[in-house]
Amino acid sequence: MIKQVVIIGAGQAGFACAAKLRAEGFEGDITLVGDEAFAPYQRPPLSKAYLLGKLEAGRLFFRPDPWYEAQNIRLMLGAGVTQIDRVSRQVALCDGKALEYDALVLATGAAPRNLPDSLLRGLGGVFTIRDRADVELLRPELDAARNVLVIGGGYIGLEMAAVASGLGKNVVVVEAAPAILGRVASAETAGAIAALHDDHGVKIICGQGVSGLMGETRVTGARLADGEEIAGAAPRTALAEAAGLEISNGILADPSGRTSDPAIYAAGDCACYRLETGDLRLESVGNAIDTGEVVARKILGGIDVYVPNPWFWSDQFDLKLQIAGSGSPGDEIVTREAAGEGWSHWYFREGRLVAVDALSSPRAYQAGRRMIIEGLTPSVAELADPAKSIKDVFDRARAASAVS
Ligand code: FAD
Repeated sequence: MIKQVVIIGAGQAGFACAAKLRAEGFEGDITLVGDEAFAPYQRPPLSKAYLLGKLEAGRLFFRPDPWYEAQNIRLMLGAGVTQIDRVSRQVALCDGKALEYDALVLATGAAPRNLPDSLLRGLGGVFTIRDRADVELLRPELDAARNVLVIGGGYIGLEMAAVASGLGKNVVVVEAAPAILGRVASAETAGAIAALHDDHGVKIICGQGVSGLMGETRVTGARLADGEEIAGAAPRTALAEAAGLEISNGILADPSGRTSDPAIYAAGDCACYRLETGDLRLESVGNAIDTGEVVARKILGGIDVYVPNPWFWSDQFDLKLQIAGSGSPGDEIVTREAAGEGWSHWYFREGRLVAVDALSSPRAYQAGRRMIIEGLTPSVAELADPAKSIKDVFDRARAASAVS
């Protein structure tokens, strides 16, 4: 009988798990432990509206403070967990206290891959964006800056570049890979985003890494050379690793979120789920919510398993990119451009629709997402025909599926 659940990491997945446990009627103790100073909050605005100063800090929180008390969820903030003792089923906190658990959830997230210390040399003016505290440090410096160098042409780097450019800064993005968004978007989508940045005067340099930073106490410039990719984030697995849990590109979990210790679960960015279709580790809001909830249901004795239906979005300048599904290199790409609907790129694998990237095209996104979830495949010819409405394309794909 599970009476005490401890969740390490008061972020998106940890919050989703705690909220789901209560919503589904769990009556035992829930302790949500986080090493940040803030109650659980959403990270996406950190590189978008919040960085731009267009969203108040209070709007970041998932729930106001009294909600936790009302739900009888014990929230421990500024409390890093330093160790897991799997034998006595206890976790140690940085202040020396210990918490007992019957079920432990690891929702420790991911951390940015930093430049090596040999390059950083303790120089001022260098920032990462992962936590709210990072943005509080960055924002005043960004206001004062004239030139901004962004290392890494992934979504967060490009959002940062768009914000800085919108604030009137000269912005350069350096990406070591041959193209921006190489791992996460088709050449068509990446090309459209590169063109958008170009239109706004952001200079994107690909195929070059940073080999040195200039400056005595503050960074004043960077030297470029053929470089290794350092951008992106790495799953935070140190605690799990020290506790002897199995690690493979994240904390390894079965399809219901259970790690190699049956009393310990993993959810969110830190977790790699071993599914029938292969290992899957995603860094997205949707994945954090879904896996947090799968773990909650498993703790409650359900037989829920994680069925990934990835979705993601990115805001850059006036573009809203929305992605459903998951494309990969080698997929056939069909481009749709219809009047009043924006653009979208549709990914087909072995004749099956697997993903859609919608560029300021919410209707294409909604239709694509539903088709992927329902396993429908639209006609390529109709999709590429701007005279056909996306609703008609969707309806015909559904009708064809009902007949077959
Ligand atoms: P997190 O939300 O990172 O939470 C993990 C928490 O655990 C952190 O608070 C961490 O400090 C804490 N922790 C770690 N170790 C310990 C410990 N030992 N003891 C106590 N606490 C610990 N996704 C999208 O889908 N769309 C977007 O547009 C988007 N934009 C993003 C923009 C930014 C700037 C960032 C950083 C992320 C963005 N993401 C976006 C990704 C999304 O926010 C993450 O995938 C999601 O937050 C993952 O949730 P999580 O709970 O796994 O990790």
